[in-house]
Amino acid sequence: MTAVRTGEELRSLAESAGRDLEEASALDILTWAADTFGPRFCVTSSMEDAVVAHLASRAFPGVDVVFLDTGYHFPETIGTRDAVGAVMDVNLITLTPRRSVAEQDAEHGPRLHDRDPDLCCALRKVKPLEEGLTAYDAWATGLRRDESPTRAGTPVVGWDEKRQKVKVSPIARWTQADVDAYVAEHGVLTNPLLMDGYASVGCAPCTRRVLEGEDARAGRWAGRAKTECGLHG
Ligand code: SF4
Repeated sequence: MTAVRTGEELRSLAESAGRDLEEASALDILTWAADTFGPRFCVTSSMEDAVVAHLASRAFPGVDVVFLDTGYHFPETIGTRDAVGAVMDVNLITLTPRRSVAEQDAEHGPRLHDRDPDLCCALRKVKPLEEGLTAYDAWATGLRRDESPTRAGTPVVGWDEKRQKVKVSPIARWTQADVDAYVAEHGVLTNPLLMDGYASVGCAPCTRRVLEGEDARAGRWAGRAKTECGLHG
């Protein structure tokens, strides 16, 4: 039976765990989350790779893995999601926006992502995730400090003020080399686009390959000031 906790209790838990687990391994951080929150804990995955889902399935077999299907994903991303659901010991949950792309086009005009990406992300990412996370007290992400300057201060366990939930980033301290080593050691599924010049995989209209010397997220909303979709801001 998982304890029912108030927002204040959750915040306090997040703050103390963030300090206590800063040096812990990713698996130990996820084991703490599974033991503390049980079925009120989930992992979110963009299906760029399945590293955190794989780690979480070791700590908590059958863990809920939440994927946000914006309707704009590359086919390779949908294929990675389907493969994860087929071969890993996880409960795959796909969230979708209230409106299809065609319905959004009819309401806001086509290619909203070009004209107002913040609104497009709000409708297709932020809102569906907010609604999908209501069943949980804690969620895990694959954020890493080395991905971009905006992610450099990511705690391994922190407080998600916007959603009033505990946010767990078990591989926050990992480097790309750590990810590559884990993928190789465990044969973890990765998005085929990572082998095709993409370093970070998001929606197709807003993602390009990265150039030599660019940081991993430089291919997201390239040419715009936007660097995050609002899920982690
Ligand atoms: Fe829309 Fe682009 Fe955001 Fe995807 S990443 S929801 S296509 S603006």
